[in-house]
Amino acid sequence: MSEITIQKGIGYQNGRPLPFVKSPNRGGSLKPRFIVIHDTASGLKDDGDISWLTNPKAKVSAHVVVSRDGKITQLVPFNVVAWHAGQSQWKGLKFMNSYAVGIEIDNPGKLQKVSDGVYKNDIVTIDTNKNPSLKVEYAKTTAHGAGYWLHYTDAQIAAVKDLCHAICDAFEIEDILTHWMISPGRKIDTNPLYPLEALRKSVLYYKPMGFISQSDEGQRHDTDESGEEQVTLDPPSDVRDESATAPGKLKAFIKSKITAASGLFGGLSVSSFLGLLTDWKVIVALGTFILLGLALWIWSEKK
Ligand SMILES: [Zn+2]
Repeated sequence: MSEITIQKGIGYQNGRPLPFVKSPNRGGSLKPRFIVIHDTASGLKDDGDISWLTNPKAKVSAHVVVSRDGKITQLVPFNVVAWHAGQSQWKGLKFMNSYAVGIEIDNPGKLQKVSDGVYKNDIVTIDTNKNPSLKVEYAKTTAHGAGYWLHYTDAQIAAVKDLCHAICDAFEIEDILTHWMISPGRKIDTNPLYPLEALRKSVLYYKPMGFISQSDEGQRHDTDESGEEQVTLDPPSDVRDESATAPGKLKAFIKSKITAASGLFGGLSVSSFLGLLTDWKVIVALGTFILLGLALWIWSEKK
């Protein structure tokens, strides 16, 4: 297992910066709250993906590409918006590029069976007879439909896990999602073989997701993934790039507890009570109450 850290948006692996190929396809500053995982839907080598994701005409990008051998190439700093999600939403948030780090994993996506051990799609032909290290499996889900899918390599799964740990150490990440979850009906990546729940269990404080995909509004915009550029971003904010040597998971957990506790007691604090006194309605009510009490007291004294 290699150690990945993030400093000022740049990823380091065992102390050395990750290979970096700068993509011009990027937006403003990003304070990520989510991680979104994608498939490149390409061949088995990463060079084509990297040249596409850094081509200004493509208008797409991602923060990192993870190749079949687990090599991680960074294209956009983690604290800058990359264009990977396009039309998307999650729990009331729209255009997830403004909220999420995008990880592209080299995988061809859905395949059809040609003959025994041979599968293909528009981009690639996979011959598991010639290359027995490639494993293809049939799977059918509501989100993906039925098809044959290439297994991710152990190196990819390990690299994505290490990346997610580092991203969660550097930023306050709420959840790890896939493209099909935030763009249902429009996207099917990652493929059904991706061990998402294992990743979430390993990286996040586990809360079952229930996997209720959001309502598919039947939209099929095959536009590029940068469509959200006109969305106003949060003003550039202090992106925390804490050293990953700190136990980020525990830190995030304690932080969430403190936030919850302060939320609970916030309503009862002295300052908020004093704040109430500046409200004229409260003053009138209190005044009336005191006057009534006085009148009652005078009346009882007279008797
Ligand atoms: Zn995608």
